[in-house]
Amino acid sequence: MLPFLKPAAITRLLIFKKSTMSESASEVRTPKNFLEEIIERDLADGRHESILTRFPPEPNGYLHIGHAKSITVNFGLAKKYGGATNLRFDDTNPVTESVEYVESIKRDVKWLGYEWQQELYASDYFEQLFEFALQLIRAGLAYVDDSTSEEIAAQKGTPTQPGTDSPYRSRTPEENEDLFRRMRAGEFPDGARILRAKIDMASPNMHMRDPVLYRIKHAHHHRTGDSWCIYPTYDFAHGQSDSIEKITHSICTLEFVPHRPLYEWLIEKLGIFPSKQFEFARLNMTYTIMSKRKLMQLVNEGHVAGWDDPRMPTISGLRRRGYTPEAIREFCARISVAKRDNLIDVSLLEFCAREHLNRTGLRRMVVFDPVKLVITNWPQGKTELLESENNPEDTEGGDRQVPFSGTLWIEQEDFMADAPRKFFRLSPGRSVRLKSAYIITCEDYVADENGTVTEIRCTYHPDSRSGSDTSGIKAKGTLHWVSAEHAVPVEVRNYDRLFLVEDLATAEGDFLDHVNPDSLITIPQAMAEPGLLDDLAAPDANRPHFQFMRKGYYFEDDDSTPEKPVFNQTVGLRDTWAKVNKK
Ligand code: ATP
Ligand code: MG
Repeated sequence: MLPFLKPAAITRLLIFKKSTMSESASEVRTPKNFLEEIIERDLADGRHESILTRFPPEPNGYLHIGHAKSITVNFGLAKKYGGATNLRFDDTNPVTESVEYVESIKRDVKWLGYEWQQELYASDYFEQLFEFALQLIRAGLAYVDDSTSEEIAAQKGTPTQPGTDSPYRSRTPEENEDLFRRMRAGEFPDGARILRAKIDMASPNMHMRDPVLYRIKHAHHHRTGDSWCIYPTYDFAHGQSDSIEKITHSICTLEFVPHRPLYEWLIEKLGIFPSKQFEFARLNMTYTIMSKRKLMQLVNEGHVAGWDDPRMPTISGLRRRGYTPEAIREFCARISVAKRDNLIDVSLLEFCAREHLNRTGLRRMVVFDPVKLVITNWPQGKTELLESENNPEDTEGGDRQVPFSGTLWIEQEDFMADAPRKFFRLSPGRSVRLKSAYIITCEDYVADENGTVTEIRCTYHPDSRSGSDTSGIKAKGTLHWVSAEHAVPVEVRNYDRLFLVEDLATAEGDFLDHVNPDSLITIPQAMAEPGLLDDLAAPDANRPHFQFMRKGYYFEDDDSTPEKPVFNQTVGLRDTWAKVNKK
């Protein structure tokens, strides 16, 4: 095992100065990362005039936050150095790939804010790759092997023992070419023969022990249909695709370090454009998983409602939950690129979302667990429209009008019949401010036979209105509220972590054993101020994000309809991340 593949250690990255995100990430972070250093060197010494990177997803699932990291690295570097980035679908495995995934990937990359120079498919190079394979065969550098997979595995040796040559290794180039063409023509069943590179069965690098270049697979491909029944392996397709596109910096994750010698061998032997591979650490995050295969299992086995379930670490799940591209990009910039595997605390992602949403989210009042509050001295039937800021952090955010009347909803938990001294909310004889409205004093309350409070009775102080308060009354607490007559019922979906353990890589048993059964907490009927629904008609891209005051940040769910509005909690208000780092 290579030293950098050690079990991950939890990295709690320090947040250097609490930057505002209006400063761009690059302004805040002065030290260059190692990829920036390489690119600057390559540009300075004239190795390349400009850089071309690529993002190469396999369309076999939806993109996740780990891919966002790769996207921001590839597109971000190209942007920073005036280069460009290709979006290349690495579609060499017909069995697991589909157009649905291709479309979702394009949507996600665009949503993150990036534009690719060209949309390309490895499958477009199948003919060219076939020619490359013939070139290797004719040069005596590749051969057709009829061994079974068991035989090949047995020949491979171990990391400490050299492998043994296949009995087919000495086939002549003519014989190999004939067999390879017949493989393509469909003469042989799946698994009957493979094409291998002829390198070195004693190489200390297992990937150099005559790696497989082509397999027979009689399968329908989502783009090439039934034209092919042989498919190139990742190693054969990837580097050659990079070279065909003249990618200057082919950036991938650390597990490809041992593949690099093969990447370079193939390019050298074929004498094609010398793309270079560079590796950085995959993003791993606490309380979640990043493998598409496992994410698919969560979907297929019904642990979540779909790839875009708001609990999923997918880009589509994060978007649906209310994360913004700005927050995700900021997160990726803050973790920078590492050369060692690590585990990033998910609360850094939440911190980035909170920072952005605090500056952009519209303030609205929503009562999750309503109890009735009656203002006994409020003029019968009167409604007053109170002006309140949409966002105190945004001077251009404007105001909204909130209707106030004599019957309100407040949170059950904001009232206590028999309260301790430090309870700064409502209790008989105590006063609080109603946000953007008046100070009220609790007179008494009504409870049912179980002791559940059903009505709180208060008086209001007419001279205490927010903004023109001359009452001189001190109220320690401020409560959110909604006028009962004007309130609109909405469904609220709150979320907890999808998994109960921090590091799933080291957790015992199957990852599914650790799924949190209570990760979705639905509030079927919360009461919202009517203004909440006014903005929802906005087109998708302009859908507003909200701060439900004293509750958290919320975003309208895709299930929402005008008849039954539904909101997802993006993140809570509390900043656990900052707390961890202040210590
Ligand atoms: P998965 O294991 O989730 O299926 P993958 O690596 O097979 O991931 P690809 O579609 O092949 O997924 O990846 C496209 C690009 O995204 C590759 O360059 C890959 O290295 C990068 N990538 C995938 N996962 C991560 C991650 N967790 N962190 C950073 N980059 C990643
Ligand atoms: Mg893959």
